[in-house]
Amino acid sequence: MGDESVWYVTAFYRFFELSADTLPAEKSALLDYMNSHGVRGLVILAPEGINGTVAGSADAIQHFKTHITNRFAADIHFKDSISEKPPFRRTTVDLREEIVGLKRPDLVPEAPENSHLSPAEWHAMLESDQPKLLIDTRNRYETQVGKFRGAIDPDLGTFSDWQTYLRETQLPKDVPVMIYCTGGIRCEKAILEMHEQGFEKVYQLRDGILGYLAEYPEGYYDGECYVFDDRVTVGPDLKPTGNYGTCPGCGLTAGITESCIICDTKYFVCEGCQPKRPNVCSKPCLDQFQRHGPRRRVTA
Ligand SMILES: [Zn+2]
Ligand SMILES: [Zn+2]
Repeated sequence: MGDESVWYVTAFYRFFELSADTLPAEKSALLDYMNSHGVRGLVILAPEGINGTVAGSADAIQHFKTHITNRFAADIHFKDSISEKPPFRRTTVDLREEIVGLKRPDLVPEAPENSHLSPAEWHAMLESDQPKLLIDTRNRYETQVGKFRGAIDPDLGTFSDWQTYLRETQLPKDVPVMIYCTGGIRCEKAILEMHEQGFEKVYQLRDGILGYLAEYPEGYYDGECYVFDDRVTVGPDLKPTGNYGTCPGCGLTAGITESCIICDTKYFVCEGCQPKRPNVCSKPCLDQFQRHGPRRRVTA
């Protein structure tokens, strides 16, 4: 095995039909596999397919990919990145209604191919001067740390706001639209919603920002990419930057560093919460502060 201090991370999804009554058995089999092979992370199973991000040693991740493709589908795309620290504390397999939360379990891609652009095709289209609209389908706590140059940010609170945004937007429907997200999964549903609402030509970025950065680290993506684990963001080289954390006040992306007045730990807080809450890093330190005031160390 290679360097023990490096965690190999892979993100993947695939839409396919899983019968609801087999889901509990699939869940426990997958959980057993992950626990016995040193794979941590979160995998979601739903009647519409599988979605997950997992981490482990190089060997463990290699085996995991083989296991998943043998078990579920041969053409799953894996998007790899790395982390110096364990990006997940736990191993979880969740059963849900959808593998991505649009709150439209009825909208399921019918075929694996639906106007996908490879990173090279996407890059070329951005470079060309043909008329197009570029829209980010991610939430505001993601777009605020980075996005494609010139992209429209719909300022979504959650992905389920996408329908409302499309209904209310004044964007022309006869101009080609390019949509993208972190790893590609949200666009698989976002594109169906756009077709329903009359957008004539929509392209989606295969494998999302993570896939694009793997090929074009110095292309048209500016800033960092939010990821759904303890790394919070990765840079253009797909390595964690340590520039952002999770705000203890609201749970969203935070870029301001503070020192906890109770335990001295350095932590990140967001612009919105910083002026409104005491400088404490966590719930236990907040409790301590509320009971005893500042500068009283937790001694345990
Ligand atoms: Zn906050
Ligand atoms: Zn603290």
